[in-house]
Amino acid sequence: MPEHRPSSPLISAERRELVLRAAVRQGLLDPERAPLAAFLDLDAVAGAVAALHAAFPAELEVRHAFAAKANPLGPVLRRLRELGMGCEVASPGEFAQALAAGFPPELIVLDSPAKTRAELALALELGVSVNIDNWQELARVDAILADRGSASRIGVRINPQVGGGRIAAMSTATATSKFGVPLADTGNAARLVETFRTRPWLTELHCHVGSQGVDLDLMATGIATTAAFAERINRELGRRQVTGIDLGGGLPVNFADDRTAPGWDAYVERLRAHAPVLFDGRYRLTTEFGRSVLAKSGFVASYVEYTKVAGGRPIAIGHAGAQVATRTVFAPDSWPLRISTHHPSGAAKHGAPVLQDVAGPCCFAGDLVARARPLPLLAPGDLYCLLDCGAYYATNHFSYNSLPEPAVHGATTSPDGTVRFETLRPAQSIDDLVARTTTA
Ligand SMILES: *Cc1c(COP(=O)(O)O)cnc(C)c1O
Repeated sequence: MPEHRPSSPLISAERRELVLRAAVRQGLLDPERAPLAAFLDLDAVAGAVAALHAAFPAELEVRHAFAAKANPLGPVLRRLRELGMGCEVASPGEFAQALAAGFPPELIVLDSPAKTRAELALALELGVSVNIDNWQELARVDAILADRGSASRIGVRINPQVGGGRIAAMSTATATSKFGVPLADTGNAARLVETFRTRPWLTELHCHVGSQGVDLDLMATGIATTAAFAERINRELGRRQVTGIDLGGGLPVNFADDRTAPGWDAYVERLRAHAPVLFDGRYRLTTEFGRSVLAKSGFVASYVEYTKVAGGRPIAIGHAGAQVATRTVFAPDSWPLRISTHHPSGAAKHGAPVLQDVAGPCCFAGDLVARARPLPLLAPGDLYCLLDCGAYYATNHFSYNSLPEPAVHGATTSPDGTVRFETLRPAQSIDDLVARTTTA
């Protein structure tokens, strides 16, 4: 194992406090006008992207495609493009967002399991990479390519069926997963070999073993199965037809403290152990990380509106609930989030831990972001932050109770500690919300 690197100093309580205090001073958080907002530390994002690039040997051809569903905001995608990333998309909306963010087609990878004919035709016309999910989709691609050629890199997603991780909903390589061609099901491997034999334009294999809750060895085992199958196709065909392997994403994020662990170094080390063939330079690689690129760089901040005691338990009621922390509210055991507590100025609030609930604004009893959590006792007007929320939280809004999308602010900090903000997404106005639910 490589020695454990200390976590990035860009992820720390001090740095979040610096950003929070600046946000209060600059009015981005305000008890009346903006009681809820999300923040992304863009310096920390750049650090994460640099770590991803550095983890793979420089002599390998690796395309790192950011999984857009983790945070599809235009300025975020543009920033990631400037940092040298590509973009993995899985819906017409994400596809359009990636194009709008200026990704060149050869750096976009289309992976949806439900691609329409129009979506496929556009991708193949533009030269966007396509990973075919199933036999019926293959027939659609056949039909499109019968009329015209394409510059796209085209592959097949296989399900290596290596099993699931700790969160069933995140496990994409179980025996019965909905994703990809299940490799071990009777007849599929041989049928895939013949499929490649008759279609020289099929040059890639893709797998994505899962996201949060899947450990590195399971992920590397699934990728090794995919790499071994690429070798088998090339051997049986007697030519080097499979030239690319898409490893998917899914590096798990540590939600327990500020360490970035596991890092991509550990991931690459496990890949070397399970699939050394990936490192001899014969395959061009693609990765599709989402959560691990952004999670630790973001937090959601809210004011406490009220506090009460019910059945003897203190409850703080704020503005961050199921609309911005949907998975945490509905599956709290799988997605527990740390919470930091602050005075109204943003300064850290310390104090003896008191078991309390932290509740959101939604009108259902389960709208809690923390239950019986030991925290300094929160008071009305205090601030609190949900940590590690840079991916899949505020940018995956759930429109319950007509709660508007909060603003997302990007922060950059100069060496003298000055924090500069830029708007990554403006807060949705109530007028906009009403307009969207009103017919002319
Ligand atoms: C969601 C997804 C990813 C990204 O997963 P993360 O856990 O965010 O890294 C990559 N590839 C595919 C096909 C996905 O569905």
